[in-house]
Amino acid sequence: MAYDINTVYVSGHRNPDTDTVAASVSAAYLKKATGLSAVPVLQGPVNKETAFVLEKFGVPVPEIVPDVLPVDGVKRKVILVDHQEYGQTFETIGEAEIVEIIDHHKIGDITTSAPIWFTNKPLGSTCTILYGMFRENNVEIPKQIAGLLISGLLSDTLLFKSPTTTETDKKVAAELCQILGFTEKDMEDYAMEMFKAGSSFVGVSIEDIFHTDFKEIGIADIKTGIAQVLTLDTEDILSRQDQFLDYMKKFRAEKGYFLTMLVVTDIIREGSYILFDAEDDRIVSLAVNKPAEQAVFVDGLVSRKKQVVPWFTEAYGKLWSSVRPSDWRSIRRGSVDWKDSVPLLFFYRTAGCLQNDRKQSGCLPAILSGFPACAVMAGCSLKNLNMMKQVQGFSVTLPEKRGPDAGRSCGFHSCPDFMTAAVSYLYLSKCLTQIL
Ligand code: MN
Ligand code: MN
Repeated sequence: MAYDINTVYVSGHRNPDTDTVAASVSAAYLKKATGLSAVPVLQGPVNKETAFVLEKFGVPVPEIVPDVLPVDGVKRKVILVDHQEYGQTFETIGEAEIVEIIDHHKIGDITTSAPIWFTNKPLGSTCTILYGMFRENNVEIPKQIAGLLISGLLSDTLLFKSPTTTETDKKVAAELCQILGFTEKDMEDYAMEMFKAGSSFVGVSIEDIFHTDFKEIGIADIKTGIAQVLTLDTEDILSRQDQFLDYMKKFRAEKGYFLTMLVVTDIIREGSYILFDAEDDRIVSLAVNKPAEQAVFVDGLVSRKKQVVPWFTEAYGKLWSSVRPSDWRSIRRGSVDWKDSVPLLFFYRTAGCLQNDRKQSGCLPAILSGFPACAVMAGCSLKNLNMMKQVQGFSVTLPEKRGPDAGRSCGFHSCPDFMTAAVSYLYLSKCLTQIL
């Protein structure tokens, strides 16, 4: 697609799901109706469920745009829907201009240099929010768009079974049914047909299944990779458990995640089986309150956003506060070596939380939810380290490997601004006297 400087891309997240694609197409339609040259784009191929939905309502599959680098020195404009985390969007998003965000997830780490339109509502789907925007703008909703909106809504709320469902979602679905001429039964039949189209994984490779709906999420600021599959046939997936575990082990090592999970959600039983590979298995038992066994079934668990993420956020806090300094050796990574006697380690992302840096937002909640203070000095220069000694007067072992990548190799990023860290330390040490 030739990029014209007036074009505004409307994009959902990587590994597009039905809500993301339906919201991109619908938002682009709405923006066009209000005079903007908006085009829906994808960050990857559509899944089977979404392919079924687009075909059903006769909507062409949007084009995949691999990056949003400037064209002839001009920044491309992008509206993000259904996400607001760097880990879920274009790697080159920093080179583009984000002009609007429409989403229903937790506030993520994306920051902008200028004010933008930002609509975030805790509703069951981005499509639900868009329905309201059509109404506010007095733009009529054609059947095609109504079909997409109801599909995104039903897909994200699992036909209202997900705890993310709100009364607004049900009301909007009923209004969309009117446009479509659907009875309630038609809607339920359609939802089951849609889930069925999306949930047969017979003959699909382990890797493809895992990445169908995979997200990297900063949970309590710890990089965590969570895949979810919704299926009416869990047997097929669970019979390949060992292959999934092998793959997840490799994948986690490659990405440097603390935890990688595959949540296999049984739509009929309304619960999920969990497969996982973790640096420390206790994280799983702390989060789901069951033994950390593979394929453990968690009754009622259907939502990654509303259940998995908050449960694991809390579990990370518990795990970290149970870690004694001598245990750090077991959870440390690669090249970073810590003296067990370091009295106060402080996690750089926590330390950096006062700085308005996109990689460093969201850390204060982490420290307040029970992390011991810890410093990851990987990537700090020797000069900074000496400054640290002067300011704080405690001893640390310098990591062998330094430089911008030292942090990455141990699963953490490097510490870019030492002074912020030092100032934050003084503040945090006050908050953390009990832990010390
Ligand atoms: Mn989504
Ligand atoms: Mn969504």
